[in-house]
Amino acid sequence: MAEWRTLADELAAFVLCGSCAGCDVPGTLLCDDCRGALAAQPVHTMTPGGMPVVAALAFEGVTARCIRRVKEDGETLLARPLGAALARAADQVRADHPHAALVPVPTGRAAFRRRGYRVPELLLRRAGFTPARLLVQTRRTADQRELDLDQRRRNVAGSMRARHARGARDVVLFDDVVTTGATIDEGARALRTAGFRVCGALALAATPKHRELAANTS
Ligand SMILES: [Zn+2]
Repeated sequence: MAEWRTLADELAAFVLCGSCAGCDVPGTLLCDDCRGALAAQPVHTMTPGGMPVVAALAFEGVTARCIRRVKEDGETLLARPLGAALARAADQVRADHPHAALVPVPTGRAAFRRRGYRVPELLLRRAGFTPARLLVQTRRTADQRELDLDQRRRNVAGSMRARHARGARDVVLFDDVVTTGATIDEGARALRTAGFRVCGALALAATPKHRELAANTS
């Protein structure tokens, strides 16, 4: 039943959708050119805490517009083409860590209430993975969009904990968009505290700002 409801929801969204998420051409959710722009072009970067991150795409242009439509406009159908790019980048990470569980960064309660879904988990599922929901948020954090690296670090410090301790199990963290990497570092801290081995991080997209930051700190 759940499967059919999802299909019906998706068909309804197709009928109602007005224009391409990437370029606004009318009559399609995503035109062929913009679909092509979502082909994975993995970006390798590093968090301030030294965690290697593989991101499927650069957060700019068509990619950024499609991700905003998923996160802010409820356009969950776009999670499929984005998930396809994510699957390609995940192959690179899983080649080195085949047994690692994919752990999404937690979605705050307010964001979950607003959207009705968890963006990182939706993307992982559309990429063909089963998210391991091992992290929970222990307190509210501020919207990070206007914060610089130090502010983001303070904003997320101590904001997560692992749901159970599981000594030495390999995990790879996942976030939809990596900006400074402060959220990934906090997730890694919480998982390590509970005894997990954090092998690295995967993201759908990395902001150019983050790439500059990585270049400056390396
Ligand atoms: Zn387009």
